[in-house]
Amino acid sequence: MRPGIRTTVFLKCCSLRCKWCCNPESIHPETELVYDLKKCLGEKECGLCLKECPEFAISVMPSDGKAPIDWDPCTNRGKCVLVCPPKALDLFGQEMSVDEVPAGVERDGSFYRESGGGITVSGGACLLQSDFAAALLEEAL
Ligand code: SF4
Ligand code: SF4
Repeated sequence: MRPGIRTTVFLKCCSLRCKWCCNPESIHPETELVYDLKKCLGEKECGLCLKECPEFAISVMPSDGKAPIDWDPCTNRGKCVLVCPPKALDLFGQEMSVDEVPAGVERDGSFYRESGGGITVSGGACLLQSDFAAALLEEAL
């Protein structure tokens, strides 16, 4: 690997379950909904996710009016994420084509050119998607 400033592209999916994993959000191969209850404004102030969820997977807690997820019916597609003003809802992972990734990291292009760095592919276990990783590096050359 050449020295220099680099941008790391994390590919989701790993077959191991190491206790010391530093990127657990990269283990599952699919996108995953994440929810930060502390940030939720509650149904009275907001409630937008309740109207947006096609699976009725969000309810209201009588105690504080906040909107917890019922994980069983949730499909993790993230329609609710798009309407949540304080970003209490978010997605781990994003489906992208090989062409879309370099466009996303190109904003750091001047740093690569100055320092001689580039893109590093990590994960997850990025070699579980070896075709994608190879095509990405080819595209980035
Ligand atoms: S990810 Fe989809 S199914 Fe899950 S809570 Fe959000 S809108 Fe509902
Ligand atoms: S959209 Fe976000 S802030 Fe609003 S009720 Fe749902 S989780 Fe809470």
